[in-house]
This record gives sequence, structure tokens and C-alpha cells, in this order.
Amino acid sequence: MQRLDHHYIDGRWVASRGTRWLPVSDPYREQLIAEVTAGDPADVDDAVAAARRALPAWQALSGAERGAYLDAFADALTRRREALIRLSCTNNGKVLPEAGIDLDDAIACYRYYADQARALDARQGQPVALEMEGIEARCYHDPAGVVGLITPWNFPLVTSAWKLAPALAAGCTAVLKPSEVTPLPEQALAEIAAEIDLPAGVLNLLHGDGEGIGAPLTAHRDVDKVSFTGSNRVGEAVMRAASEGSRGVSLELGGKSPVLVLDDADPEQAADWIMAGIYFNAGQICSATSRLIVDASLADTVYAALASRIDALHLGDPLDERSDMGPLTSARQREAVQAYLAVAEQEGLTAVRDARHRTLPEQGYFLAPTLYRDVPTTSRLWREEIFGPVLCGRSAANEAEAVELANDSDFGLAATVISGDSDRAKRVGRQLRAGSIWYNSEQLVPPQTGWGGFKRSGIGRELGPWGLSAYLEVKHIIGPQ
Ligand code: NAD
Repeated sequence: MQRLDHHYIDGRWVASRGTRWLPVSDPYREQLIAEVTAGDPADVDDAVAAARRALPAWQALSGAERGAYLDAFADALTRRREALIRLSCTNNGKVLPEAGIDLDDAIACYRYYADQARALDARQGQPVALEMEGIEARCYHDPAGVVGLITPWNFPLVTSAWKLAPALAAGCTAVLKPSEVTPLPEQALAEIAAEIDLPAGVLNLLHGDGEGIGAPLTAHRDVDKVSFTGSNRVGEAVMRAASEGSRGVSLELGGKSPVLVLDDADPEQAADWIMAGIYFNAGQICSATSRLIVDASLADTVYAALASRIDALHLGDPLDERSDMGPLTSARQREAVQAYLAVAEQEGLTAVRDARHRTLPEQGYFLAPTLYRDVPTTSRLWREEIFGPVLCGRSAANEAEAVELANDSDFGLAATVISGDSDRAKRVGRQLRAGSIWYNSEQLVPPQTGWGGFKRSGIGRELGPWGLSAYLEVKHIIGPQ
């Protein structure tokens, strides 16, 4: 069994000072596949000091030079693609095609920010138009400094790429803490840093949990900015910690995103997109479209189309090419979702397919894909993020009611609009309060478009030029011409 007992600090593998050990499991085989150190605050001190020492030289490189390292990350991930796909299947329970999508998204992100790093050189020192005689001003973009990057377990290589690639492109040095639940895929990032001779201290990777590494990292006064992806509960703790010393934060948090099916939609086509929005990654997606708002005239047809697709889903070994849906990533997550299913029973929700509608594989942390209809807006299942394969639907009498229901949420990460008229879908999309709106498509996340939420879904944006800006400080130099 693998023992992740070393961090990557200052370009070397260094033994953790942590004394606690955490199990890392294969959620299909229900087997321990590794043990990971919980970490120790002293490890954080060492990593932050190494990142601080590395900052001046890394910042002094041109964007083009930093871009070459990001291309090298993309090349190295491409070489490891097959091995990392299998690792994501065994550590996360992802089915093969989904793990492949993750890898390709991560690689595209490193490539995109390699280009952004190169483009940054031309943006430095641009003159600013002034209305003052004899005075000139020029605009520069400096790195934010030493950054702490904390990622969750549902998309390890993707969420870390969205932080690490723009941070390094901007000239920041980083301390990255993967989730203790899925530390294996991101361990590869430190191996790649060593392989491509990334200057020591530019990327430091610390294994551990919230107590051993996460909280000390966010509280560390020498960390200039923290970028966090995870739950609202922890995100709020991160924000409180960063308020000490008035340090910056970016937060990518939870969601309860709607999918709207308008009265002119094709119900069969709509059902395909609805399925992809909720049962991908066994529903463990921050942007899961977990609230279905369907025009009343189409409701029965859409529910019937969904029921037949749910029945056709093959649940099984993530490494088996026939599997459409794997287990949940941990026993703990399965318990969390089961608690919501118990609430659904207490509330007497109407199930189109309940959690007991099929026999589950004999092993693995599986849950049946579940669909409720006519769910009251007061139900906890309608309002709270469940983070599992549970879809809640209700009907709307018309477009205006659908928009009102969609926006009646504490969250605002994403939404999907399905209509036979794409102009109408786009117009409805403009009325929704969320960061990413898809119309007549699956959830596409190109690295060129921004990612992040309104309301409680977070603060700031990742991806696109906004993802780079999150790691840059704007500086103006002003004086006589
Ligand atoms: P989590 O909040 O439990 O953990 C996230 C990370 O924070 C982990 O690395 C964890 O070790 C660390 N952590 C725990 N306590 C900490 C503390 N006190 N200080 C600092 N770090 C600490 O979340 P999770 O269960 O890993 O992930 C699921 C959540 O992530 C869901 O709510 C989901 O919506 C959200 N998520 C959001 C996005 C997005 O882009 N908006 C993407 C993926 C996941």
C-alpha cells in the first residue's frame, strides 16, 4: 500500500511532520489504497518560506519563460494521460470517459494559461489615456505574491489546474493542498514539477487535511492570497482566516443550479441534456443542474423520457467500459446523500425513481440515480446542495414563472435553458442570476470563458482572463512625460 508521507517543498520530497494518518480508498472496491499524512502546521511554515524565497526570481522571468513551463506541464500530463485516468477511476470512482474528460480539461487549461502568460508581456507598461497635460501613466500587472491553493475531491486535476496554471502564469509562487480524500492524482503535479525542472519553491505541494494544513495555510500571514474551492462551511472559515491581515481570497463554493425546459423544447433531446447535468460524476458536481423546472405542458413526457434513461444507466466498475455511473467518491459522501433521501421520505416527496428502484452492485459506495417530481420549494431537497445523483423537479406554468423559480435560490453558479428557439433560450439566460448559462447543450467549460458564481456560490472568477486577474495586482506608474 502506498504511503503519502512526503510533501514537495523547495524542489525536494520532504518527510511530513504530521503524526496522524488518513485512509485513501478505492470507492468501488471499498479497499484502502493508500495512507496520507494529515500534515502539520510546521510543514506549512516550511512551504510558505520556500515559496517566498522563490518569488523574486520567478516573478522576474518573462511571461514567455513562465509560459514554457506551463506548456511543459501540459506535455507531461499528456504523457501520463492513461495512467492518470486510471488513477482518477480508482481514487475518485469516476467512469473511464469522465476521467478522460477531466484530463483533457486540465491539459487545455495549462495550455491556455501558457498563452496568457506570453500575452502578459505585451500588456506590461501599456500607456493609459489621461486628460492631464504633460503627464503620462503606464499600467503594469504584478503577481499577487505567495498564494495558497486548496482544492476539493470531486475534480482534483481540473480544480487544481484552474488555480495553479493562472497563478504560475501571473508570476505567483504557490502552496497547493489537494483534498485528503483524493490526494493521488494531484501528487503527479509535484512529480511533474521535479521532472520539468520547475525552479525550486515555485510549486510546493502539501498533503493533509483541514486541521493539519488547510487552516494553518489560510491563517499564515506570509500567504498573500488564498484561492479555495470547496464547501460553503469551509469557504466561510477560509474567508474569516484571511480577514486577519486583510489578505485576499477567491472562493468557488456550492451550487443548486436549475435546468429550465421551456414549452417549445424537444422532450427527448431535453432529457439527454438533463441526464448529463445531474448524473455525471454521480452528481458530485458543483454546477450540477439539480433543480429541473419543466413547463407544465411537457412535464409528463419529460419525466417519462428521464425514467427510461435512468433505467438504462449501467452502474458498475469505473474501469469497466460498460459503466455509465460509478460509486460516490467516499462512504462519507454516500451517507451525506442518504441523509437527504431520508428527508425526502419524511417529507413524502413523489419519486419517479426512488433510491430503492434497482439492485445496486454488490460492492462500492453506490447510490441509485434518483428523481423526484413536484417537489415543494420549501423542501430541503429543493433548496440545499445535495452533491449526489438526486434530481428534483417541479413544473412551471410559463416562462416567467420558470425564471422566478430558477432565481429563487441562495446559489447562482450555473443554469441550463432548453428551448426549440435558441434566441429565446439566450434571452431567458440573460434573466438568470448565475455565472455560467448553457443553452441547448451539455455543460461546456472552455478555458476561455469565466467560471464562478453569483450569491453564495462564491467570490471571484476562475478561467479566462478573469482567472489570471485573480493572481495579478494592477500597478500604475504616473509622472511627467
Ligand atoms: P470541503 O470544503 O470539505 O473541502 C475542500 C478542501 O478544504 C479540502 O482540501 C479540505 O481538506 C480543505 N479544508 C477543510 N477544512 C479546512 C479549513 N478549516 N481551512 C482550510 N481548508 C480546509 O469540500 P469537499 O467536500 O472537498 O468538496 C465538495 C464541495 O466543493 C461542494 O460544496 C462543492 O459544491 C464544492 N465545489 C465547488 C466548485 C466550484 O467551482 N464552485 C467545484 C468543485 C467543488
